[in-house]
Amino acid sequence: MPAGTPIRRTKIVATLGPAWERAEQMHAFFDAGVNIVRVNASHGTPEIRGEWIRRIQAVRAERGGPTGILVDLRGPRIRVGTLAAPLTLTPGQHVIFAPEETAQDGEIPNTYPELAGDVVPGSRILMDDGLLAVDVTSVRGDRVEGRVRYGGLLKSNKGMNLPGVDVSAPAVTDHDREEVARAVALGVEYLGVSFVRRPEDMEGLRAIIPKSIRLVAKIEKDTAVNNLNGILEASDAVMVARGDLGVELPFEQVPLVQKRIILRANRHGKPVITATQMLESMIQNPRPTRAEASDVANAIIDGTDAVMLSGETAVGSYGLEAVLAMDRIAREVEAQRLRPPEGERRRWSLPAPHVARTEEGTTPIEDAISVAVSAASDLLEAALIVCFTSSGFTARTVASYRPRVPILALTAEPETYHQLGMVWGVVPAMMPHLKNYDPMWQAAREEILRRGLAREGARVVVTCGVPFDVPGTTNLLKVETV
Ligand code: PEP
Repeated sequence: MPAGTPIRRTKIVATLGPAWERAEQMHAFFDAGVNIVRVNASHGTPEIRGEWIRRIQAVRAERGGPTGILVDLRGPRIRVGTLAAPLTLTPGQHVIFAPEETAQDGEIPNTYPELAGDVVPGSRILMDDGLLAVDVTSVRGDRVEGRVRYGGLLKSNKGMNLPGVDVSAPAVTDHDREEVARAVALGVEYLGVSFVRRPEDMEGLRAIIPKSIRLVAKIEKDTAVNNLNGILEASDAVMVARGDLGVELPFEQVPLVQKRIILRANRHGKPVITATQMLESMIQNPRPTRAEASDVANAIIDGTDAVMLSGETAVGSYGLEAVLAMDRIAREVEAQRLRPPEGERRRWSLPAPHVARTEEGTTPIEDAISVAVSAASDLLEAALIVCFTSSGFTARTVASYRPRVPILALTAEPETYHQLGMVWGVVPAMMPHLKNYDPMWQAAREEILRRGLAREGARVVVTCGVPFDVPGTTNLLKVETV
């Protein structure tokens, strides 16, 4: 990046895959601007994923930059079982779904033994990303009968969705538990939780992971949209997982639901990733379509923290170009419009009617301080906000008010350093464990000058929580001169 190039506030999540599995390719993708690497546990083998994660960790250690790793768990995804040969389904055809263990020739095997208990006549079963659809006509024992509405070629292992059905499968499957154990042993920073329905789904997983790992709730079911506030409370970040969301919900509802999820996540001070098909055509083409460029720009204008690439980087022919395209779109939007319209999110100005409220109706101290930090940085035309953080809490809260200037977040915790790569506007930096404010400010000043984030004599607004080692106590605002 040439000197003087503004810091990009929006973060880029890129899915790892065969298209950039070699160390020199990883370096090129990081140079292009990847902030968070997503490893999709629905693909590949545990051995390959383990090898990739170790390689990413080696490359990031060599580079020294903040790069969180997000392992995206498969969750209770329902799939078509193994077919002897692909089946051609024609509209009006009568079909029978059966548990894969007992399916006979001509029946459609599936991996969800409870299917017959969860659907009723009138339910719709979608397959292969919603391209094939069957309307359920009757349920007999463990067999589900239906009539094909939209036909096509059905292949083995395609995903199945049951829109509007409250699926009773456990939130964390045995496959997920094994994946979680491996991810914990490898020391990843984020776990993506698929098909979350309610807050308890997050709590079940929370109980089996170390505190330092952050959970991203993937919002991809209508039940999750209905339980959004509770899920936001129970998670560390959310993903607008538009792939499944667009199959579970009528597709015309996805744009407004996306806006609602982003707005609520901002209000809860939780990072939000907008995902899937953002630059889909770049799997084959070196340039995005105009609609795709607009989609990325609009998610950023809505207030997303991060935009995500899936197949574009995992298997696409132009993954590097896709990262560069996102970087260009984000920079363009940010250069023109640093703050969404008033009233669309929590306000930065005082008094702040949109700031979070506790149950008693008061504003939490960290929100009051963060509003003040944002306002002070504006009024003083400060060059930077500096934030000392151990868990990342202070940095996330300040960022959720979308201040005009970058937030330099200094931490002594490597997990926090890498995790903060997901958060809008935050520039993570490592510093030694220090106990008192003065040496902390000195460390920050050196970092600011070393990176050219502000000139000597510039004013910066500093915030942190005292005592320093108690996370979640943002209570200090100080103005310093570099
Ligand atoms: C999605 O559904 O949009 C998503 C990100 O999840 P997955 O890629 O696991 O289907």
